[in-house]
Amino acid sequence: MLELKMFINGEWLNATDQETCTIINPANNEVIAEATRASVEETRDAIDAARSAFDSGIWSDLPTSERASYLFKIADKLEENAAELSALEMMNVGKPLREAEFDVADAVACFRYYGDLVTKPSDQTYTVADPVQGLIVREPVGVCGMIAPWNFPLLTGAWKIAPALAAGNTIVFKPSEITPITTVKLFEILEEVGIPAGVVNLVTGGGSTVGNKLAESNKVDMISFTGSTATGRSIMKAASENIKKTALELGGKSPNIIFADADFETAVDYALYGIFVNAGQVCNAGSRLLLEDSIHDKFVESLIRKAKEIQVGRGDDPATDMGALVSEGHMNTVLNYIQAGIDEGAELVCGGKRITSDGLEQGYFVEPTIFINTTPNMQIVREEIFGPVLVIQRFKDEAEAIELANDTPYGLAAGVFSQDDAKALRVIKKIRAGITSINAFNLAYAEAPWGGYKQSGLGRGLGTFGLDEFSEVKQININLDVCPTNWFEGSRTVQSN
Ligand code: NAD
Repeated sequence: MLELKMFINGEWLNATDQETCTIINPANNEVIAEATRASVEETRDAIDAARSAFDSGIWSDLPTSERASYLFKIADKLEENAAELSALEMMNVGKPLREAEFDVADAVACFRYYGDLVTKPSDQTYTVADPVQGLIVREPVGVCGMIAPWNFPLLTGAWKIAPALAAGNTIVFKPSEITPITTVKLFEILEEVGIPAGVVNLVTGGGSTVGNKLAESNKVDMISFTGSTATGRSIMKAASENIKKTALELGGKSPNIIFADADFETAVDYALYGIFVNAGQVCNAGSRLLLEDSIHDKFVESLIRKAKEIQVGRGDDPATDMGALVSEGHMNTVLNYIQAGIDEGAELVCGGKRITSDGLEQGYFVEPTIFINTTPNMQIVREEIFGPVLVIQRFKDEAEAIELANDTPYGLAAGVFSQDDAKALRVIKKIRAGITSINAFNLAYAEAPWGGYKQSGLGRGLGTFGLDEFSEVKQININLDVCPTNWFEGSRTVQSN
């Protein structure tokens, strides 16, 4: 069994009160680790370490090429340890090994991308009427508090830590109390490559203690949060204490629109991938499938047939297509949603039950589930279920598809399938969502901005926008005519607003 410590100011520590979180493998309910549980005081120590490291300039003053070289070393180490990291991610989250391997590869790509990007020229100049040369420079925000969810632990860490370090910030990171293992491994790598003490700090523990302390602390300049919309709301309130910069990646209930002229097999394939990968525990899952009337029945029939072929099982079984849900509590939430759908009168046409056969008795497995004959006000249509539950709506024309797609408080992702390029682009441009695809779903790249409209969040991670997110922007006006303004003598040489 692994014993996971926190990492503060370059030292691996246990909580002084010896409190721990028990970490399980959701595929068999076996205990795989005990993670130390930081107190509010220990979180404060981590914040103080990050504050001193930032204020000393030990990281932010490094040339960008030197910061980049650390990021490349981190990527190399992640790659060297990919087999171990994938196995641990599989075991802790319950996902198939193949998915965990993709997550590790994406984390490697993210560190390399920001290593490259940060050395490219980014500053700008401006010319004004005065004899002034203007410069616009990017600077780090300062101490960044980071709070992560449980569904893509290593990848979420990479998405936050790579751009933040590239930009010159220092960090206090809180992983989910359910899936901290690969984050601890990532911090071992950060230590191994020689990131100076205090620049990166890891505090394992609870949301209302560690997470809330990070959000409210006056010594933290920015909070970068990924998680549910409900928690995001409370983080925004806590962060208002010192008006800290807030980046929020929140939940979704994303529409995937299939027109009758779509390539049928491609659309069916992505509809399944959009909802059943990672057992539907994906913020940008295509959890609402919008089908044009004329293809509805044929499409549903094909979906059901293929969904029934999905092999649900343990992540270490090579035959497994879909793994376990992350915990018993989360499985029960998903099962309660399925029951709510039945009670509201939606028609359950596939799955709907927990799987307890063939050696899966101790794990938290739920069948790929599909509902049809839904109405827009049903709970299963409006709320994020975050499990393998696909809710189908039908539409008669383009206008109705757009109306249904946008009828949600969320705005994270969307997809449109059609072989009419003009129609597909017209429709996707009308959808209020940040992560969209045409004739594809569930794509994520380090190069592309990640984030949502409406209650799916604030700001953008990844791409060049991700570096901006972890930066402040400063204007520098350089007077090229160094002489008095004579403002109070009734004339002046330098203009101002
Ligand atoms: P969650 O909101 O319950 O928890 C996320 C993190 O916040 C955890 O580390 C938790 O300990 C912490 N937390 C809880 N209460 C807190 C508080 N009061 N103050 C500070 N921190 C607190 O979310 P979850 O169940 O871990 O993850 C699932 C959710 O995350 C889903 O809604 C999903 O859509 C969302 N998500 C979004 C993205 C995205 O990129 N938009 C990515 C992954 C997950």
